[in-house]
Amino acid sequence: MPRAKQSKGKCAYCGQEYAKGPMTKHLAMCAPRQSAIARAETKRATTESLYHLRMQAAGQPLFWLDLEMRGSAALKDLDAYLRAIWLECCGHLSQFSIGGWGGSEIPMKRGIAQVFQPGVELTHIYDFGTSSETVIKAVSVREGKPTTAHPIALMARNLLPESQCLECGQPAAWLCEECIIEDQVWGTLCDSHVETHPHDNYGEPIPLVNSPRLGMCGYDGPAEPPY
Ligand SMILES: [Zn+2]
Ligand SMILES: [Zn+2]
Ligand SMILES: [Zn+2]
Ligand SMILES: [Zn+2]
Repeated sequence: MPRAKQSKGKCAYCGQEYAKGPMTKHLAMCAPRQSAIARAETKRATTESLYHLRMQAAGQPLFWLDLEMRGSAALKDLDAYLRAIWLECCGHLSQFSIGGWGGSEIPMKRGIAQVFQPGVELTHIYDFGTSSETVIKAVSVREGKPTTAHPIALMARNLLPESQCLECGQPAAWLCEECIIEDQVWGTLCDSHVETHPHDNYGEPIPLVNSPRLGMCGYDGPAEPPY
C-alpha cells in the first residue's frame, strides 16, 4: 500500500486543498458551497434531511470521501456510488452492516434517514474474498433542498497518494501486479522504469488511480465518480 503520510483532499466547490480533519470544518464554511446551497433553495424541490457522510477506507487512512446524501435515498444508491468511484472490478457481492464482519446486515433498500441515527457507524464490504471495507460515519445533518438532482453530491475527496518508484525513488505513476502477487512488494514504478521492468505474468503495469482497491483482484480503475 502507498506509504506517503499526506492525507490531503480537495474541496469540490472551491478547489482548495485541506487535510482530512480540517476538511469537515471547511465544508461547513466554504463560500462557493454556501452559494450552491443558496441557489438550490430557490428551486422548486422538496426540503429534506441531507446527510454529510464521511467514507473512510478501513486500514487505509489516505483514502476518504465526503459526500452529501439525501435522507430519502437508499443504501443501494451509496453502494452504487462506492462501486463506481472506488471498488468495482468484477461485480462481487457487497453489503452494509453495523459492527463490521459478523455484524448485523442492513438491507440495501433501507433509507439513509432511517440508518444514520446519531453515533451510528456503518461498514460497507465489497467482495467477500479479497475484501475492501469502507467505514461510514454521519458527520452532520442539515435540512434543505439538495444541490444536485442525484442522490449524492461529492463534496471532497483525497488527493491521489504520492508513491515512489521502487527502483529510483522518483514519483511513480504505474503499479506492477506481479510484484504484489508474487513478491508481496508494492510495485510502483516511474515512467522510465516501467519500460524496463521485467514482470509481465499478470499483464503490463497499470496506471496508479485514486482508489483503495488498486491492485486488489486486478482492480485497475477508472476510480471516477459516477456523476
Ligand atoms: Zn471549499
Ligand atoms: Zn474482482
Ligand atoms: Zn524509477
Ligand atoms: Zn513487478
